[in-house]
Amino acid sequence: MPFSHHSHSGQFCPGHASNTLEEMIRTAIAKRMEVFAPTEHMPRHDEDRYPEEIELGLEYNKSEVSHGEYFEEAKRLRKKFQPRIKIVIGFESDWIRPRSLDLINLSIQRYNIDFFVGSVHHVHTKPIDFDQAGYEAARDIAGGSDQQLFGDYFDAQLAMLQATKPPVVGHFDLIRLKSENPERSFQPWQDVWGRIVRNLEYIASYGGLLEVNFASLRKGMSEPYPKDEIAKVRRFILQCVYVDSNGETDFPDDGGQILSFR
Ligand SMILES: [Zn+2]
Ligand SMILES: [Zn+2]
Repeated sequence: MPFSHHSHSGQFCPGHASNTLEEMIRTAIAKRMEVFAPTEHMPRHDEDRYPEEIELGLEYNKSEVSHGEYFEEAKRLRKKFQPRIKIVIGFESDWIRPRSLDLINLSIQRYNIDFFVGSVHHVHTKPIDFDQAGYEAARDIAGGSDQQLFGDYFDAQLAMLQATKPPVVGHFDLIRLKSENPERSFQPWQDVWGRIVRNLEYIASYGGLLEVNFASLRKGMSEPYPKDEIAKVRRFILQCVYVDSNGETDFPDDGGQILSFR
């Protein structure tokens, strides 16, 4: 098992993941990972709360405090487990609207991070991977079809890429998760495929990496993010293998399967 550059713990990502950060690092060591990168989500504005966060009473101020505690704990664990595993400390960004840039910059400037994963989980401010209702709300605004929404997703992704130049780009084609056919090829939709190639070229132009994200397999799809047809366009940027674990049970046992996609 080589390394993971994307993971969430139950300690700092309640409702979304299980296990403490320390438990996850111990599991990574047991699985013989050489590098492990915790990447908790950055705080979001209160208007973008998920229902589970509202239930937990999570507000921006609280999530900012928790974000600071996360970085402190990650640094403590990096020291504690050295030299058994290399801990690379990061966070996962959220691009919801141009104003998201303020919060992304705050996390970059306030904490001494090693890197961050740039992700898009929203289109037209609606969450596209949380539940079907959110996906459909975004699709309605896009014009009603998956094709239109996919186009808007990759436009939002380009805006995120241009504004933040993330060192690692998260789950590049996440938009297919709740679509009518998550396994379908993007290529017959030329307008969408053109945007995909455009974004890949942009990522390559500033030296970004695309992660290979296996959360899709957990959700019943046959290929990781990005699909193989996308990976083939720009193979050289696929250097960042990643499991998107949401707890230690999500660590795959079969490192060979991961390597076959590199
Ligand atoms: Zn994500
Ligand atoms: Zn994530």
